Amino acid sequence: MNFQAILDDIVATVKPQLGAQGQVASYIPALARVSPQQFGIALRTCDGLEAASGDFATPFSIQSMSKLFSLTMAMQHLGDALWQRIGREPSGNPFNSLVQLENEHGKPRNPFINAGAIAVADRLLSHGDGVGQLLELLSALCNEPVHLDPEVAQSEAETGFRNHALANFMKSFGKLDNPVAAVLDLYFHQCAIRMSCQQMARAAGYLCRDGRHPYRPGVAVVSASQARRVNALMLTCGTYDAAGEFAYRIGLPCKSGVGGGIVAVVPDQLTLCVWSPALDASGNSLLGMQALELFAARTGLSIF
Ligand code: GLU
Repeated sequence: MNFQAILDDIVATVKPQLGAQGQVASYIPALARVSPQQFGIALRTCDGLEAASGDFATPFSIQSMSKLFSLTMAMQHLGDALWQRIGREPSGNPFNSLVQLENEHGKPRNPFINAGAIAVADRLLSHGDGVGQLLELLSALCNEPVHLDPEVAQSEAETGFRNHALANFMKSFGKLDNPVAAVLDLYFHQCAIRMSCQQMARAAGYLCRDGRHPYRPGVAVVSASQARRVNALMLTCGTYDAAGEFAYRIGLPCKSGVGGGIVAVVPDQLTLCVWSPALDASGNSLLGMQALELFAARTGLSIF
């Protein structure tokens, strides 16, 4: 398959719509000033072949996409014990909802809503890991240094009233072991990591190759069954309360972030990342979703 031609064609198709619909995230200044006139797409196959088009090399704020990698680290350390504190069901509610937490006595529905990612951050801290280890993991996975934006981390902390509420609420149920401030500090810093589409397509590579490291032969990032489970969670919970719509229209495990990135996995074939900052009402990149739909239709690649 000529992936380069397909990606170029997708860029040509979506470009005329740039800036026409959707809104960039505006809850912090550093995201509000990102131009919506940007679109990038990159993929990397299991064999290491790459194709990319548009603004694929521009770093963006990965935001909730970081939850994929913090979950991966927690699975590496804790295995199934992780699930004592976090569920595996789609929430059907907005990513920062407090409602279900009360019914479930402070146990978040899944690791990809904010409450779940905060619980994962708590588990990582108990294991002695912080944002430094997360940056190390990401840098190794995409084979080049990955950094975070301190301004975004600080703004997240200053405006993250709901995340403070979620963490305090979980703490009140005895579901966080570490001080709320330390847990949130890790969570806000992971949200502030910046990567390009190309780096993200590379970094997620272990998810299309049964957990094997994309750049280090013989190294397992996670086991094959863990990789399969991360993909299952992405499909059911990875795109806020639009996971059903993603499965219906695209049919691939995806994880999105309010920075406008979406990473998708075609098991045993490739990983793909799209980025365009304008979001739809559920917080997913509007043109990113459209591009993934075009990709699935043109390549026939879908898990269904
Ligand atoms: N920093 C955002 C928050 O915690 C993350 C949002 C997202 O990408 O889902 O509210």
